Amino acid sequence: MNGLVSLIGAGPGNPELLTLLGKRRLEEADVIVYDRLVNPAMLSPFVAEKIDVGKMPLHHKVSQYQINDLLVDLSKQGKRVARLKAGDPYVFGRGGEEGQYLSKHNIPFEVVPGLTSAIAGLAAAGIPITHRDFASSFHVITGHRKANGEELDWENIAHQEGTIVFLMGMGELPNITKQLIAHGMASDTPVAVVQWATHWKQRSISSDLANVVQTVEKMKISSPALIVVGGVVQLMGDLQPHRPLQGLHLLVPFKQDSKLFHALQDEGAAVNFFDRRVKQPLAFDLPDFDAGGMLIITDFAAFHYFQERLLTMGIDNRALANWKVVACNHIVKYRLQQDGLLADELYDPNKIDYQRPVVFIGERATLAHYNTTDNTDKADYLATYQSEAINQNIDLNDFHGIVFPSSASVADLYTGSTSDQRDLMSHLHCFAMGKTVADECQKLGLKNVIEVKPSYDNVIQMVKKVFAR
Ligand code: SAH
Repeated sequence: MNGLVSLIGAGPGNPELLTLLGKRRLEEADVIVYDRLVNPAMLSPFVAEKIDVGKMPLHHKVSQYQINDLLVDLSKQGKRVARLKAGDPYVFGRGGEEGQYLSKHNIPFEVVPGLTSAIAGLAAAGIPITHRDFASSFHVITGHRKANGEELDWENIAHQEGTIVFLMGMGELPNITKQLIAHGMASDTPVAVVQWATHWKQRSISSDLANVVQTVEKMKISSPALIVVGGVVQLMGDLQPHRPLQGLHLLVPFKQDSKLFHALQDEGAAVNFFDRRVKQPLAFDLPDFDAGGMLIITDFAAFHYFQERLLTMGIDNRALANWKVVACNHIVKYRLQQDGLLADELYDPNKIDYQRPVVFIGERATLAHYNTTDNTDKADYLATYQSEAINQNIDLNDFHGIVFPSSASVADLYTGSTSDQRDLMSHLHCFAMGKTVADECQKLGLKNVIEVKPSYDNVIQMVKKVFAR
């Protein structure tokens, strides 16, 4: 059976500006086919195969014909396809053509609308597309001339009441301003240009028809951008959002419903994720619980798998009644407590009583760090899982800093990175939540490590301090 193709609008860029239906379709998809303007941060949470068919200006990566055929092929393989397009799929960007092609080939498809940059992108720069005092209509126009060089109906456009928004217009800006003035629009009509709206690198300028070309050159504003012509541009001064971390691009470890992501985004930072290593549970023998002894828990995930094992054997934490429970650090202790288990003490290698059974539990490779003392043969090392690194597919040039909430997160990014990525990483600001995490960063050679007391508030305060402008 042919799989459903969903033409999904990704919105202007900020990953939280996706619709709920769009999000669900991305979760359900087998494959996501996405464009150049789609923010990569939006794709991180989804496990589907991802195909980039983005087109760079003047450097067409995949032709529209190839994209059309790809969608049909994937659907015929029975795959659920999410065709993710910037803004709204039916506002320029050829969504309508893709729909027609699918329809012609009897492929089931639907459209999931998105917030168009023509409206939402303006708002992000403080421009309401209509306003009672300035504009009671709006007109969205492509600035891209057809291949045959045919001109737009400038006479008509220049005499419209309301806001005019040009998409794909940057290459034509001199012509646009010239034509509007030539057809009677006042040369002091306000004009704004908004580049990369709602992305971390959003920039905007305001000017007027006579001067905007010069302003844009001076400020080096280029595509992708929205050109806005009309009185509403004057409202930018009042309505432009000013958030403390605006313009910052930070990297955090991926977590579903990450509180850190939300906390940073709410302050205006743009946040992207790196992938965590995959945890693979391992088979292991449970200790003889009757003997009693010391159970040393090196990380919480290890205990989680340990507990799962207990449950499958029909027992629970009460089996540990005769055991001293030792947490390797404060975070493990805290997580255990949240889980209903009070650790008796924190790990101190000098305070282990080897007269009684000693069992370490942890991740396979990490356990080796604990397995170096002279007492090695007196303890048991139970690896309850192992971590498998994933290649980190991120351009670290694009970031200002990384937040590491745990030592494992440091290792996750580091082990999955190439040596070039590691070089870049070593110069980024790394916010380490707690001393253990900072130590781990330093051990791996990161040079710009900032230790922060482990709470999201502290992270935000410190990020503000470091990047104060
Ligand atoms: N379907 C999209 C438009 C696709 S055409 C939408 O509804 O927004 C591509 C053009 O859209 C770009 O050349 C640029 O003019 C505009 N655009 C899209 N996203 C943008 C963004 N985040 N910031 C500024 N312009 C954007």
